[in-house]
Amino acid sequence: MTPKDFRKLLSSVKKTLTPHQRQVLMDRLQPAAQKSASCNLVESRVSEKPVCPHCKHEKVSRWGFANGLQRYRCGACRATFNALTDTPLAGLRHKAKWVEYGAQLAAGASIRKSAAAVGVHPNTAFRWRHRFLKLPNSQQAMSLVGIAEADETYFLESQKGRRQGLKRAPRKRGGKASKRGTRGTSEEQTAVLICRDRSGNTADFMLEKADKEHIGAVLKPLLATDVILCTDGAKSLAAVAKEMGITHRPVNLAAGQRVVAGVYHVQNVNAYDSRLKEWMRRFHGVATRYLGNYLGWRRLIERHNRDISSADFLRAALGMDGLQHATVT
Ligand SMILES: [Zn+2]
Repeated sequence: MTPKDFRKLLSSVKKTLTPHQRQVLMDRLQPAAQKSASCNLVESRVSEKPVCPHCKHEKVSRWGFANGLQRYRCGACRATFNALTDTPLAGLRHKAKWVEYGAQLAAGASIRKSAAAVGVHPNTAFRWRHRFLKLPNSQQAMSLVGIAEADETYFLESQKGRRQGLKRAPRKRGGKASKRGTRGTSEEQTAVLICRDRSGNTADFMLEKADKEHIGAVLKPLLATDVILCTDGAKSLAAVAKEMGITHRPVNLAAGQRVVAGVYHVQNVNAYDSRLKEWMRRFHGVATRYLGNYLGWRRLIERHNRDISSADFLRAALGMDGLQHATVT
């Protein structure tokens, strides 16, 4: 639109609009405004001097626009790319709806509810959920310092969404494991080790088995040698601490002990676990193959002190939340 036409448009808007006309105009403008909000956020991923994501060459030139985003072309390999290239959100459509979708994730809304709020098919909302959670799943504290607390927790195994290759007859959702008894020995429970230090750095691990070997494999790279590890006294955790030569402060909860020497306790990790379990209830049991995504989702909410915005979520989905994280492959 020429500047002259635009001035004309503005002056006609200034004349009194009926409430209905104003609404129609706003409805027309809103998707564009939301699209540009998403696109601005996405564009902020690219630095002033982008490098080619394919060959890392620095000779890159601007190469027009496509799908609302600046396109670049590499002078060396000639490949074109944009700010979404190599992110889990590449190839997803309807950017105008991403910011609102981020708000749905921030609120922990169900697939059905978020699909309705954003105006996409539930299948799309499902696909988006797991694309948005791909990076949060891989982002967690890589080392804990000072006083660290560790605790095992268990999630019901679920083959939800799987119609073929079920190892057993389908169970009604949210049901109870039929094999009870010793924690962690049931085939129907997935063990998760949650570790949190007093600064709030958090890491969790789905374990094939909650034994010394598997716990040791995840704790050794995570804990600094001068960490003081607080646990509820689980044998496998004690064995790992001994093997690593770190100080271990078990708290005998069964005997009514809460705090040792005024500072050693597992209340932070236990509170985290309660919040996680309480929040997970809304999903009525999650498929075990997606459990990692839900754990990452919760860690992300917690990193933002349980007050995460839609833009925060979108940034995290694009790997822009500046946290130390595991290399994504
Ligand atoms: Zn290149």
